[in-house]
Amino acid sequence: MPECIFCKIAKGEIPAEKIYEDKDFLAFLDIMPSSKGHTLVIPKRHFQTIEDIPENELKGLIAAVKKVATAVMKATNSPGANIFQNNSEFAGQIVPHIHFHIIPRNKDDKVSISVSHIEYESGEISAYSERIRKALL
Ligand code: 5GP
Ligand code: ZN
Repeated sequence: MPECIFCKIAKGEIPAEKIYEDKDFLAFLDIMPSSKGHTLVIPKRHFQTIEDIPENELKGLIAAVKKVATAVMKATNSPGANIFQNNSEFAGQIVPHIHFHIIPRNKDDKVSISVSHIEYESGEISAYSERIRKALL
């Protein structure tokens, strides 16, 4: 199986516009941005999803996201940003190497990030909360 594209970027085997790097994490510009300055932050080690990455490594990753997001917003003069990550192809994950998106946002920009909404049937919301609380045990 060919190695994943973000592993190759992490190893310097293919180029990227790197903006932050330390021993464990790397941030670089998204090649097809939603807005200018759209940045991806990855662990250098390969994990696909939030379920796969060890908790300690995730803590380091989110700390890097905070540091980089602050700089992205400052550098692009953006008062806001969307920060998210997709888990699995069913959630729109195209590159199977965990990454956080940082998308700087401005008043009247044309960026479209939509979350649709549905309704619970009567009593269903309690059933869902119960199921999820049980899954935590
Ligand atoms: P996903 O849908 O997996 O959450 O997002 C993957 C992101 O990676 C996309 O926004 C896409 O534009 C970006 N991307 C895919 N291939 C490359 C690449 O080779 N280099 C860079 N810099 N970004 C990439
Ligand atoms: Zn990888």
